[in-house]
Amino acid sequence: MGLFSKAGKTFEEAKQSYMSGKGATYVCRACEERMTEEHDYCPHCGEDAVEELE
Ligand SMILES: [Zn+2]
Repeated sequence: MGLFSKAGKTFEEAKQSYMSGKGATYVCRACEERMTEEHDYCPHCGEDAVEELE
């Protein structure tokens, strides 16, 4: 149970980080997924639409 709550907390932190966009430097124009590293193809939808955020 301790492990579960720890994982839940980590998920919440990741969600908070995602929601605020903190650390995300690139965004996919196709699915609007944000990521911290540049990709030739979006790891989420596979489109060649990853751009650096302004
Ligand atoms: Zn995408």
